Amino acid sequence: MTGIAHSIKISLWFYRRIHFTIGYEAFKIRLETTKVNARNTSSICPRLGCRSRLKDIGGRTLKCPKCGFIGDRDVVAIINLSHEYLRCGMPRGRPKRSQAR
Ligand SMILES: [Zn+2]
Repeated sequence: MTGIAHSIKISLWFYRRIHFTIGYEAFKIRLETTKVNARNTSSICPRLGCRSRLKDIGGRTLKCPKCGFIGDRDVVAIINLSHEYLRCGMPRGRPKRSQAR
């Protein structure tokens, strides 16, 4: 195994472990979990009513050219996912069920 392949394997192991742990802890308290596609979740401004495409300003930080919002790309993704799937506690679409159970 090459150094790059080993690095990828180690970094994916960490995310798989987090995914498993969240599913396991949710299962223990009988919460339903879902797996959603995170594609493009950090590219749209999370301010309600804006929805402009964000520009990368370096250091994993994004800025909205329309409203001036500045935020970390991971935080932006979480805000957009919460807008999409946690409205009134019900998802808008039908995301795939988690395989981590
Ligand atoms: Zn904006």
